[in-house]
Amino acid sequence: MDQQTSNEDLFERAQRSIPGGVNSPVRAFRQVGGVPRFMQRAEGPYMFDVEGRRYIDYIGSWGPMIAGHAHPEVIDAVQRAATRSLSFGAPTADEIEIAELLRELMPAVEMVRLVSSGTEAAMSALRLARGFTGRDAIVKFEGCYHGHADSLLVKAGSGLLTFGNPSSAGVPADVAAHTLVLEYNNIAQLDQLFASRGAEIACVLVEPIAGNMNFVRGSAAWHQRLRELCTQHGALLVWDEVMTGFRVALGGAQQVYGIRPDLVVLGKVMGGGMPMAAFGGRADVMQQLSPLGAVYQAGTLSGNPVAVAAGMAQLRIVRRAGFHDALGETTRRLMQGLEQAAARHGVALRTDCQGGMFGLYFATDLPRNYAEVAKADLQAFKAFFHAMLARGVYLAPSMFEAGFVSSAHDAGVIDATLQAADAAFAELAAR
Ligand SMILES: *Cc1c(COP(=O)(O)O)cnc(C)c1O
Repeated sequence: MDQQTSNEDLFERAQRSIPGGVNSPVRAFRQVGGVPRFMQRAEGPYMFDVEGRRYIDYIGSWGPMIAGHAHPEVIDAVQRAATRSLSFGAPTADEIEIAELLRELMPAVEMVRLVSSGTEAAMSALRLARGFTGRDAIVKFEGCYHGHADSLLVKAGSGLLTFGNPSSAGVPADVAAHTLVLEYNNIAQLDQLFASRGAEIACVLVEPIAGNMNFVRGSAAWHQRLRELCTQHGALLVWDEVMTGFRVALGGAQQVYGIRPDLVVLGKVMGGGMPMAAFGGRADVMQQLSPLGAVYQAGTLSGNPVAVAAGMAQLRIVRRAGFHDALGETTRRLMQGLEQAAARHGVALRTDCQGGMFGLYFATDLPRNYAEVAKADLQAFKAFFHAMLARGVYLAPSMFEAGFVSSAHDAGVIDATLQAADAAFAELAAR
């Protein structure tokens, strides 16, 4: 390695060729400030930057790396697939195998189509829901993220029953105008909306456990009501399990809540770290896709053989008996340890977790929606983030992101993290 290479130099150089120096905005450390770490390699629970520093990784590539980095079985599968072909652009037997496995792990998925990103999967599911129902309006919830398709970069309008406004420049107002935005976990709003506009709604898209506004659990009663209302009004219920799928439980949040959505959006874990995602669900709905039906959807690299090999290899690991029990236990131990360490130093911290996904809030109560997440202590979060990073623990650089634990995070790694946290909270308390 070039000894002169530093994160700072690379960040400066990157910004000359890449907007903001990054290929996805949150990597730029804007909320926490400072210089992003440029990574060189990763193994198990660790990532190593260009300066040779080691970090315990709690981002896991934002979710995919549930079996740890560079798992030998995944790497082996990728290498073998790569020697056969990087891309055929024609059907393969392995695509059928992963489709069958996804159906087995998620009963709501009767048929499935592979795509290359969660964004693409969510966008395709929306078009399918609109094509199937013949309706244009869609509903999403404040603080949920479903990728960056135009219809989904929308914030609430001026009133509850008014359609949304673009949350990004470049999204036409008349596209955003078909999206209604409600507050997460608010049953009264759901009732009110369906009572007045139920017949216009093609689908409701929701993260069952929200992971893009920190970690916010949908209440069981709210999910139940949403399922009932969609059924009553002929709207499709679309669960975006890009983050929660195979992560909060083997069968995803559907298994946690015992609710069956009409369509499911998948990604992250199912790609094993390669660009692969999927959408699936009711066979009668999925059969509306071309070439069978009138809803167009396609992809040059969809079902890419190397990505399918990585995804299959990782799904085979996570479906082994006890995988999620152990992962959930590790995550709970980490959360309890962090709460105890914070309490020792008089720092207000609450935590929540499910399977291998967690949330940390510098607040006295668990949040139920975006507004409550936004009330957490941002200054405390920033200080904690940097205090941990300096001690070799890499947390998400935003208090609006969830955290991830992998099966490679063993007891020693958790102990080391808690030791770092004890020192970090002491530093916070002394501010
Ligand atoms: C990450 C994510 C997406 C977008 O997936 P990309 O692969 O980044 O396009 C969509 N929905 C949810 C819930 C996600 O967490």
